[in-house]
Amino acid sequence: MSRVYNFSAGPSMLPLEVLEKAQAEMLDYEGSGQSVTEMSHRSKVFDKIIKDAEKLFREILNVPDNYKVLFLQGGASTHFAAIPLNFMNKNGKADYIVTGVWAKKAWQEAKKYGEARKVASSEDKVFSYIPKLTREDFDPEADYVYMCMNNTIYGTKYPYIPDTGDIPLIADVSSCFLSEPLDVTKFAMIYGGAQKNIAPAGLVVAIIREDMLGHARDITPTMLDYKIQADADSLYNTPPCYTIYMCKLVLEWIKKMGGLEGIKANNVKKAKILYDFLDQSKMFRNTVNPEDRSLMNVTFVTGSDELDAKCVKEAAEQGLINLKGHRSIGGLRASIYNAMPVEGVQKLVDFLSAFEKANS
Ligand SMILES: *Cc1c(COP(=O)(O)O)cnc(C)c1O
Repeated sequence: MSRVYNFSAGPSMLPLEVLEKAQAEMLDYEGSGQSVTEMSHRSKVFDKIIKDAEKLFREILNVPDNYKVLFLQGGASTHFAAIPLNFMNKNGKADYIVTGVWAKKAWQEAKKYGEARKVASSEDKVFSYIPKLTREDFDPEADYVYMCMNNTIYGTKYPYIPDTGDIPLIADVSSCFLSEPLDVTKFAMIYGGAQKNIAPAGLVVAIIREDMLGHARDITPTMLDYKIQADADSLYNTPPCYTIYMCKLVLEWIKKMGGLEGIKANNVKKAKILYDFLDQSKMFRNTVNPEDRSLMNVTFVTGSDELDAKCVKEAAEQGLINLKGHRSIGGLRASIYNAMPVEGVQKLVDFLSAFEKANS
């Protein structure tokens, strides 16, 4: 068997031992005589899987008791609409910090439902930095402030959590979920699509403070009403059972890796190997503000579209796949999520170094 190192922004690599465990349990899950793919979501066996997944999530991320952990669907993008429907209902206003394509999409969607204000944006410099905001920047009448913690396409991450005072803070953490410890109490809600860091596609995990629930507007589709989902323990309808099971396996792996402290140490090590190489290279360079660099998505360019394309192609031939940057900015991007082994990053740096020598 020959496996590649997949640097895709998502769906992305899963830990090998998680895939092996899933493979071993594929035909007969814990003596049930069936695969989790076949099992009733109302069965006792599945009930234990989803409850264990929630328990692990709470333990690993240190989620306080007054927060719900929900397993939802529709990808992160569906929640761009669900968030205003559930929360933009007191003054009909919200503040959006636009730091990339995903934050912009969320803002544009929210404008359909009320007064969504772009409180700050880094679009003036191709989203290469994170604006510094203080409490005074936010509208005291905003029903919430919305941010995207890690900007998958541009390779930036907030180096701080904005102080919004009493205004509820909501964060899309899709591409940095469980990549390092996070103080959940600073947020009214965090959520993300699972396909970057915690499971295959098809699942969204949302962590919502209980006092936020129960104020959705009447027209909110039932499936998007977080209170209804919370009251049904994420089983209002058939959930993505197998993806929730895979999520549980990944959470068990994270625990074995030393929890989020262990995961963070590994992520910092990987990112350092790559950024250190880029910083000394005469061919490649990372173009984001150094203090806002992402641990998960590392973007870089040679300055020549032709050389970029050649590099992506030759890397793929060596089993280093999906290094092409997002179509909106070009260049290259290495997504080095939790499951990317240190050896994968080292192999990438060795390749880039050889490519530089051969082409300069
Ligand atoms: C990938 C991504 C999304 C979109 O996720 P879908 O599940 O495909 O809707 C949203 N936000 C961020 C930060 C992402 O990285």
